[in-house]
Amino acid sequence: MKNNPNIVIIGSGMAGSGAAYHLSQNGVKAKMYEMNKHYGGQTSSFTFEGKYVFDNGPHLSFTSDARIRELFADSIEQDFHTIPVKVNNYWNGHWVKHPAIAHMNGLPADVITKCLTDFVNIQNLPTKETYDNYGEWLIATYGETFARWFPMRYGQRYHTCPAEKMNLSWLGNRLYKPKVEEVLNGAINKEAPNVHYVQECRYPKNGGYVSYLNKFKDLAEVHLDHTVSAIDSKNKKLSFTNGTTIDFDQLISTMPLPELIKILDNVPEDVRAAAELLSASTCVLVNIVIDREDISDYHWTYFYDEDFSFTRLSFPHMQAANNVPKGCGSFQAEHYYSKKYRPFNGDLAKAIVDTKADLMRCGLLKESDKILFENAWVLDYANVIFDLDEPTASKTVLNYLDQIGILSAGRYGDWGYIWTDQSFASGENAAKKALQLTK
Ligand SMILES: Cc1cc2nc3c(=O)[nH]c(=O)nc-3n(C[C@H](O)[C@H](O)[C@H](O)COP(=O)(O)OP(=O)(O)OC[C@H]3O[C@@H](n4cnc5c(N)ncnc54)[C@H](O)[C@@H]3O)c2cc1C
Repeated sequence: MKNNPNIVIIGSGMAGSGAAYHLSQNGVKAKMYEMNKHYGGQTSSFTFEGKYVFDNGPHLSFTSDARIRELFADSIEQDFHTIPVKVNNYWNGHWVKHPAIAHMNGLPADVITKCLTDFVNIQNLPTKETYDNYGEWLIATYGETFARWFPMRYGQRYHTCPAEKMNLSWLGNRLYKPKVEEVLNGAINKEAPNVHYVQECRYPKNGGYVSYLNKFKDLAEVHLDHTVSAIDSKNKKLSFTNGTTIDFDQLISTMPLPELIKILDNVPEDVRAAAELLSASTCVLVNIVIDREDISDYHWTYFYDEDFSFTRLSFPHMQAANNVPKGCGSFQAEHYYSKKYRPFNGDLAKAIVDTKADLMRCGLLKESDKILFENAWVLDYANVIFDLDEPTASKTVLNYLDQIGILSAGRYGDWGYIWTDQSFASGENAAKKALQLTK
């Protein structure tokens, strides 16, 4: 290794933190550049009026990686809550536990009958090795009625893209594949067991999710409010919107791939075209605090109905009591859009008005509740949309970055449906490669 390799990290989120951590463990203090005025990227947390804490989208840690779980816990001196997670669904005015396929009790009898009939009938069909798209997989896994009325309907609202236009690379264990007995039991028995893929989570007692980065942010030389505007990969130079330029021996980028390609010089036309095919959802977050805490028994709720403005709802005061003053409760509603499939018109005031009206409609907000705080903001990059263009397009872009020696990491740098622990590990891996390349 060079005595003191000049390794530069773009981005101060989980992936940037993972990279800085691995480098520091190997005696290297990297330079980190972050366009925001605050640290943490997607895992940032914000405190409003000195007392209302909201994360940049609902975040809980459910990592199964014991090493990273311990690193996160150590970063907050073991000061976390352990939360036995409860999740439910709101479908056509009915509340059912999640996953709905294993908890149909409470739905109208004709809905249960149709879903069960289809589900039982598909049990005798031969299974395929591969499926052309997510829609086909859903129908083969759950039967046509449940597939169309539940996950296809929800997925269209969350991913903004129809299931028939999505690939399957992101699926993993995200959708539960129940046995027939579990489906039947869930239809008959209101207390069927919790089979959600996340059973228990951790969340910092103070300061929101970003506190998990407490011990990582001093491991690099951090420059906030620095937007990288151009990268000369051949001469190893980075320029910023403030007019300055720096050199690097090795670059680790955690920026979203489409944004990275836009600021790289001399990118071949096919790679630029591939990057333009990559699409991600945009999430409008609406945050509300009220003077009552007994809002819900569940930590988050999926909303299926097309006439609801938000798709998912969570309750930050249930993650940590210190996220609100005593006796208060808070909502965080997620509204999903995308440039490619459902563009957002930019009207945040309407998003707040619609959220409150829909919270009233489903009964979670009451006329008697006093609203103490409300605001909204936009996450430009929320989830990668795994449409049918994505596999080839992301491969083309990632292969090119490999060729020119730029290490891309994290959720939007790997272009994956990955959680905070995986983004952290992705940053660590990029740092390992950076050290090898600067030997
Ligand atoms: C709504 C939502 C809920 C989620 N819930 C969970 C959860 O409950 N649990 C969980 O484990 N994971 C969750 N995740 C996933 C998690 O947020 C990500 O895996 C992780 O935060 C991604 O980290 P990252 O460092 O890869 O990306 P980011 O955090 O986006 O970091 C990239 C950084 O690069 C910076 N940057 C971009 N362009 C430039 C530029 N030109 N110049 C300088 N800086 C730049 C950005 O500002 C950003 O800080 C959720 C994600 C979303 C969207």
